[in-house]
Amino acid sequence: MNPELLRRYLGYYQDLGFRHLYRRNQNRGAGALARGGPPGPPQPDFLPVPPAAGSPELLATIREDIGDCRRCRLHEGRAKIVFGSGNQQARLVFVGEGPGADEDEQGLPFVGRAGQLLTQMIEGTARKEGIPIQRKDVYICNVVKCRPPGNRTPLPDEMEICGQFLVRQLLAIRPKAICLLGATAVKALLLDRKEGVTKLRGNWYRWRDIPVMVTYHPSYLLRPYNQSAKREAWEDLKKVLHYVYD
Ligand code: SF4
Repeated sequence: MNPELLRRYLGYYQDLGFRHLYRRNQNRGAGALARGGPPGPPQPDFLPVPPAAGSPELLATIREDIGDCRRCRLHEGRAKIVFGSGNQQARLVFVGEGPGADEDEQGLPFVGRAGQLLTQMIEGTARKEGIPIQRKDVYICNVVKCRPPGNRTPLPDEMEICGQFLVRQLLAIRPKAICLLGATAVKALLLDRKEGVTKLRGNWYRWRDIPVMVTYHPSYLLRPYNQSAKREAWEDLKKVLHYVYD
């Protein structure tokens, strides 16, 4: 590979969040660049080919690249990969943690109880605020695309491996703002923030050059003792919707 092409590949992988790359086999060209990570069985070559300079990647290309993914252990218990859904040119993207049981079954994000609450929050707030949007106008996805066993929180290596797809989705859509739902989404995109969601929520941050709002995950809001958090989440959403659609 010529040095210029190698620089482009490495710059792209750095953009996707890969920090450690090593050369596994000198004779295998670009595919020989493999991700450093915890010891384990040999990983397949899974680094994507960067899109042509100046042309954003298509979501369909990213989905195709995921294929029948087995890049991390979460593939073992999943029924369906949950890539994301909504408007591919959305001005607003919501990022959650990972699929639950309903999502795993249907292959769609946020379709269970928490998803219904998210829909109500988006559409109810938009209606009240006179903003003519519905859920289908935004894009919704998760940090990991396969359901963690027992709905546990994704582990750091799973988030890192699958996180490349989230980064590529966001770079493909280039929304006007991103709304992070809960702590896992914050950990995935706001790497330098150590505070919890309660501290971070309601304020603007940045991922690359895109404004980011943090709020609670809807499944947290479903717990009966979290009524004040519900009010706060509604306020956060109001802020995001006005910023994006006014
Ligand atoms: S969680 Fe992501 S990286 Fe892991 S198997 Fe599923 S699609 Fe692949």
